[in-house]
Amino acid sequence: MKVYFIGAGPGEPELITVKGKRLLEEADIIIYAGSLVNPEILKYAKKDAAVFDSASMSLDEILKIMVDGVKDGKIVARLHTGDTSLYSAIAEQMAELKKAGIGFEIIPGVSSASAAAASLNIEYTLPEITQTVIYTRIAGRTDVPAAEKLSSLAAHNSTMVIFLSVQKIKEVVDELLKGYSPDTPAAVVYKASWKDERIVKGLLKDIADKVKDEKINKTALIIVGRVLDKDILKIAKKSKLYDKGFEHGYRKAVVEK
Ligand code: SAH
Repeated sequence: MKVYFIGAGPGEPELITVKGKRLLEEADIIIYAGSLVNPEILKYAKKDAAVFDSASMSLDEILKIMVDGVKDGKIVARLHTGDTSLYSAIAEQMAELKKAGIGFEIIPGVSSASAAAASLNIEYTLPEITQTVIYTRIAGRTDVPAAEKLSSLAAHNSTMVIFLSVQKIKEVVDELLKGYSPDTPAAVVYKASWKDERIVKGLLKDIADKVKDEKINKTALIIVGRVLDKDILKIAKKSKLYDKGFEHGYRKAVVEK
């Protein structure tokens, strides 16, 4: 038996992977991050599964449930919001499980960053506009390394997806304006994929006020970059992938006569 770290997806219960759902159905013990994971997803759990909300628990308490559970021959599902690879604090849990000799496996999930792009009907990477997405956050109780100041990252003018920072949107914008033009499109997606999802669109120069007016101060992503411009496809080059004249491993080029 082992611990399964499962990316629960951004909110909408169907946005968990098939494998994640199956393990949730089989789990004897479920520990979910109640501050962000949509509890609706627990409908997939067995009736007699023991369910814990980790929101009010310490790392030690979480670990004890996991370790005792696996030693007892139970399947433990540890649910994290979105994808497990981003701001989920699974690293410290894995380190402790390793020390305790407890096996684990990670089942990735759909990040809120992906869900937000879907809700906005955008692609984060467009040919010749940007081929880079920066996932970052502003410093809060958790520090951010000095080399990753928003103002430094802004110099690239890539697409940026900013987690855990909407409560400081004014500060975020002030930093970003050191690298992006004030007319760069920006959007805030609150609770992407949830029933009460909300989207605020604007420009870097007015997004902070719009978000304050909407009283959004948690569970939201700030997205910045030219890919949000509704007319961007008039400028962006088409990708080579479906270009008739471009040959790749799966398709021969069509030579125009
Ligand atoms: N692992 C998660 C991120 C966890 S950090 C993921 O891949 O999405 C928590 C932060 O993620 C929140 O402060 C917010 O910025 C963002 N977030 C999580 N779920 C969200 C959602 N449904 N919509 C918008 N932002 C979300």
